[in-house]
Amino acid sequence: MLGFSAVAQKNPAAVKFSETINKQRGYDHLSILASDEYEGRETGKKGAWMAAEYIKKQFQSFGLKGPVKDGADPYFQKIGYASVSLSKSELSVNGQVKQSLKDFYITPATVSAKGFDVKGTSILFAGYGLNKDDFNDYAGQDVAGKIVMIFSSGDPTAKPAPAPAPGARRTAPSSSGSLQVKIKYLLEHNAAGVLVINPTADNLSPQLKNVLTNSNPYLKTAERMKNIAAGTALPTVMIGTEVANQIFAVANTNLDEIKKKINESLKPATMAINIPVAFSAASVENDVRAENVLGFLEGSDPKLKNEVLVVTGHYDHIGLVTNPNATDKVNNGADDDGSGTTGVLMLAEAFSKAKKAGKGPKRSILFMTVCGEEKGLLGSEWYAEHPVFPIANTITNLNIDMIGRGDKDHPDNNFVYIIGSNMLSDDLDRVGKKANADYTNILLDEKYNNRTDPNQFYYRSDHYNFAKFGIPVIFYFNGVHEDYHQPGDEVSKIDFPMLAKRAQLVYFTAWELANGANRPVVNKNDDGTLKTK
Ligand SMILES: [Zn+2]
Repeated sequence: MLGFSAVAQKNPAAVKFSETINKQRGYDHLSILASDEYEGRETGKKGAWMAAEYIKKQFQSFGLKGPVKDGADPYFQKIGYASVSLSKSELSVNGQVKQSLKDFYITPATVSAKGFDVKGTSILFAGYGLNKDDFNDYAGQDVAGKIVMIFSSGDPTAKPAPAPAPGARRTAPSSSGSLQVKIKYLLEHNAAGVLVINPTADNLSPQLKNVLTNSNPYLKTAERMKNIAAGTALPTVMIGTEVANQIFAVANTNLDEIKKKINESLKPATMAINIPVAFSAASVENDVRAENVLGFLEGSDPKLKNEVLVVTGHYDHIGLVTNPNATDKVNNGADDDGSGTTGVLMLAEAFSKAKKAGKGPKRSILFMTVCGEEKGLLGSEWYAEHPVFPIANTITNLNIDMIGRGDKDHPDNNFVYIIGSNMLSDDLDRVGKKANADYTNILLDEKYNNRTDPNQFYYRSDHYNFAKFGIPVIFYFNGVHEDYHQPGDEVSKIDFPMLAKRAQLVYFTAWELANGANRPVVNKNDDGTLKTK
């Protein structure tokens, strides 16, 4: 029997082709991707499109293939990303036409594809719109078919939560006063529509006006499309104080007076107000350009090449600074996640060179830089739901998100957090750690490597969209620092030798995974318990 040897088992070919993963190459890519010209690479905007084009060109120059079949460009997987704007937004009270974004507003994202057109000759004012045992604005009322008017927020009976006993868990605050809950009641009881008295409407900020003109984009998931098609939203109009007072005047009162009355008596003041009112809206959906960028390296072993290792990093970031007075206007995202994108590019180049020299991996490798991470892991969600290679053949996802800096717990930066590595597969954990011991010798910090850590990092980057389908993952991460999601996340603060060293760790791990005799066995369930045979 062979004794255990502590001497590192280095594969000379793996070492040779790792040489292109170096600090200079890292700087070359990152100084472009994280430059001000790329405007912080916000998904759906110019800077992200420029980044996508840059990455595609690199993949092409390495000789990688674009594997996307159903699009105009084989390197781009378009994600379903769209925003909504209103083609119509109208309100009239007592025959007077009101001005959108001044007297009232309608939120585009709440208007279904069918739009709405509501008319009536009377309004049911229902105060705070509460439906509780001790305070019911709807007692004895049937709201079906009616236009209801309520306050946007508040609950006059809500008591401040008592201080929790020492050691006791704080209970969630009452949600009865939330607008969502109020609208849900009206929807369930078939109201025709609702006028919400909302002080926000009195003085709209430029940012809010933007979103009300054209919504923030969203991912067109199957679930979302079903809801939009069903058109289940309640016709909802936010009205300002002036419109509210015009309506209350018919009942010989005004907003301040009636609110005071309710708050002091702690009794509902529901009443019908006879006044003609009409409101209507129609929406249009606008596709927004956003894509994952894919480069594919086919495996060399005919029996193994249908198995695919996926290496990811998100190329998007949070875009320009919104504060107009800021001196530094660009959130460069050099670390987050220009560093991971750079890492993916360097791995892609190294494996491509190995393949050209006849040392290509046995299994296939998909290098994928995804978009939409900062918007909620959207690009990877889209990929996992529309995989270019079958999920069943996807052996592992190695995800790199922030490998260019460090945190205050590690002054020398010679570390990387690994997260997820043993969550689904002890094999993968072993391979990753052995690669480090054999080649790179970085401190692997597993502080965040659990499902219960308060930071929830296991759920917070793109690997999770693979893990949720049972694909084992390793997430490489340098922790958060003072420039996280700030304009100060700049190229000048990147530790390029460490970026290259961590990228080499991912590379050697990928080398083992793509060439190993067997793919990592998934021996654990989603909750971390061992699978029973
Ligand atoms: Zn990130």
